[in-house]
Amino acid sequence: GLPGRGRMAGSPQRGCSDTVASYRLKKQTMMKQIEQWVRPNIRQLRPYSSARNEFSGEASVWLDANESPFNAPYNRYPDPLQTELKKRLARQRGVRPEQIFLGAGSDEAIDLLYRIFCEPGKSNAISIAPTYGMYKVCADINGVEYREVSLHDDFSMDTEAVLAAADANSRLLFLCSPNNPTGNAFPVSEIERLITTFDGIVAVDEAYIDFSAQPSWLGRLDEFSNLVVLQTFSKAWGSAGVRLGMAFASPAIIDYYNKVKYPYNISAPVQRYALEMLDRADDVRRWVDDILSVRSQFVEQLSALPVVKKIYPTDANFVLIRVDDAGALYAWLVAEGIVVRNRSTVTLCGECLRVTIGAGDEMNRLLEALRRYIQNRE
Ligand SMILES: *Cc1c(COP(=O)(O)O)cnc(C)c1O
Repeated sequence: GLPGRGRMAGSPQRGCSDTVASYRLKKQTMMKQIEQWVRPNIRQLRPYSSARNEFSGEASVWLDANESPFNAPYNRYPDPLQTELKKRLARQRGVRPEQIFLGAGSDEAIDLLYRIFCEPGKSNAISIAPTYGMYKVCADINGVEYREVSLHDDFSMDTEAVLAAADANSRLLFLCSPNNPTGNAFPVSEIERLITTFDGIVAVDEAYIDFSAQPSWLGRLDEFSNLVVLQTFSKAWGSAGVRLGMAFASPAIIDYYNKVKYPYNISAPVQRYALEMLDRADDVRRWVDDILSVRSQFVEQLSALPVVKKIYPTDANFVLIRVDDAGALYAWLVAEGIVVRNRSTVTLCGECLRVTIGAGDEMNRLLEALRRYIQNRE
């Protein structure tokens, strides 16, 4: 999340009645549970120890990693734990560095959760439908059963049905909020019920949190040791091309992430780039404000077009719309050089297109193409 928006960068908010001692006790109880959910081979894993792991002091001659002495700075392996970047990120998000994992996109953070917590052919993961496709793809890759619980027609969640889908082999629960492709965020009380009741890891995917009025769960990270908050540089931060995703969680979970990840998973140029981006939070805030204002203008103009049957409320940088004939409209737009996402085959999304909010002139071009489509049909 961006600092200064809502309560996102806020410090952990605990109930005042919670004494420090009882809080610690509760935390320890939860930590023990996490160990129990970890795959036995991962619990016992001795991770690869890289040259840069074994020596971390100051030196002027580096002959430990078989690097070339030429072509600085690219000749050197990057910091395997991204120490400087995590320090900076921690300060900005109001968390501690040991609560952060960085991956090649959120996709790496999602995949590693399966590899840490799920036993192929035995464990299962739970999510809602429709939602982001990678949770299921990663389940399939890892040989893990994926259980989908359909949302209601209005895309609200049946929290009790989600919990009822769990059994003794359930290890992961993915909840995308704001949800892709529906655009809605789920109420805090419902997500809290899942985190406190589900007997496993709850991953709240906040890829679109910067566009939402809802607070981030980062502010409550210290309360729940089974909570993983996923965020990304790909959307509000305008950096999809560099592949940088974040998982925020209790240090116990982050330790397992660090054990399982590739030693040098974030390249040195990406670490440097991300440090520069973190200095541009003001720019990002402006970009978000711009996208939000373009979004409201676009939705307003869209609602005047007869071809649009329904515009779903959105908390994200996209809007899901139901039209007469999604296939025909999609093909028309492609012929006009405009690509949107046809979500017609997805659960509850019949005849629906998902439209990303781009620049104002891009949305105007889309609106013009829609008006030509309507004229052409008459
Ligand atoms: C776009 C998106 C992401 C971002 O994935 P990256 O691998 O970080 O680019 C994550 N989750 C959801 C739901 C998304 O829509």
